[in-house]
Amino acid sequence: MESSGASRGVFGFWTRLPLYLRIVVGLVLGIAVGLVFGPATKAFDLPARLILRVLGALAPVLILVAVVRAILTADIHGRLAARMAALLTLNTLTAILIGLGVANLVRPGVGANLHPPGEVPRVQGDVVGALLDNIPSSLLQPFVDNRVIGVVMIAVAFGIAARSLGEKERRLAEDLCSLSFSSILVVLSWVIALVPFAVFGKVASIVGQSGFRAFHALGWFVLAVILALMLQAAYYLIRIRFGSWVRPLSLLRALRDALVMAFSTASSTATMPVTYERLRVGVGLRERSASLGALVGSNFNNDGTALYEAMAALFVAQMLGVELSFADQCLVVLTSVIASIGAAGIPEAGLVTMTLVFTAVKLPTDYIALLLTVDWFLDRCRTMINVLGDVNVACLLDGKTREPQGTAPATAPF
Ligand code: ASP
Repeated sequence: MESSGASRGVFGFWTRLPLYLRIVVGLVLGIAVGLVFGPATKAFDLPARLILRVLGALAPVLILVAVVRAILTADIHGRLAARMAALLTLNTLTAILIGLGVANLVRPGVGANLHPPGEVPRVQGDVVGALLDNIPSSLLQPFVDNRVIGVVMIAVAFGIAARSLGEKERRLAEDLCSLSFSSILVVLSWVIALVPFAVFGKVASIVGQSGFRAFHALGWFVLAVILALMLQAAYYLIRIRFGSWVRPLSLLRALRDALVMAFSTASSTATMPVTYERLRVGVGLRERSASLGALVGSNFNNDGTALYEAMAALFVAQMLGVELSFADQCLVVLTSVIASIGAAGIPEAGLVTMTLVFTAVKLPTDYIALLLTVDWFLDRCRTMINVLGDVNVACLLDGKTREPQGTAPATAPF
């Protein structure tokens, strides 16, 4: 009785710790065990391999449901919809290009000299060939092969089809999507609870076999990601300065609460009501712009995640000594855009969709476990950029003239 009470106590204590602390504990124990047991820790990376397999299995379904849901629930039409889509696409592409640019310049992974478990196959042919290769030859194949582009094609087709159904059927489709989305997020939270064990095993196995070379590279990676995120923030503020009536410094002052909350929760969805309230009350944007940017946009606008996933793919390729060709990098751009649309606004969501980016360019997904050691921190940083991306869209949609004072009550729709 006593021992079960004690273990419940230990288990209870463990689950009450915030995830990032559990990951840090896994990291520290992993280093210690790797140093003590050396090369004998080779098989310790098994939990990481298993967890990444499960994440990889969840990813295509998550993207399918997220894209169908976005198409079904997007309630904007005509010019406004086109303008918003253009803004979102431009911002995401800029984020990825900044990420790839910084990763190509800083080359944080070079020098890690990790040895992949076997030959890493390369993507054959040109960009067009690689794209054509992604057109599904059966409805299930993209899910079996984890091919994100094929999954999106199917999702878009079914999303548009469901939209054209009668009101009752459409509501049913929306409810089904919401139900599936919530269930996937619950399963995801179970898997994410196991992440500290994956970190422990992967770190022990890497330290045991190759020492600290990989961590030196990780340090450079963290700096490179922060630099790229700061450049993206500067891009947003410059665009806001010249494309809207809002002034960057007063915007940052008004948004302080939302940004701090994004950092502390690592969830842009949890921050959403605060972002909306700050834009509406603190900055004074029109109701329509604030809700389009912060409420509608935030469902699929995750530029920080896109930037991070592209950089992560390049970083791991550099660590493994694999050269990513132009065609590969184009695939990284395309899959990162899709992956960021499918990433839910919750902690570590980028991790799931990252498996799809890696699969597209044939990189071994188990190295994502190495990134977990720093992800708890970088996740918080990219969540701030995800929120700032929504703010950017809201300000640009608000235009160059301010809403006349005292026109509308500044209440939040929650
Ligand atoms: N945590 C991020 C967010 O909530 C998503 C991610 O993992 O990149 O926006």
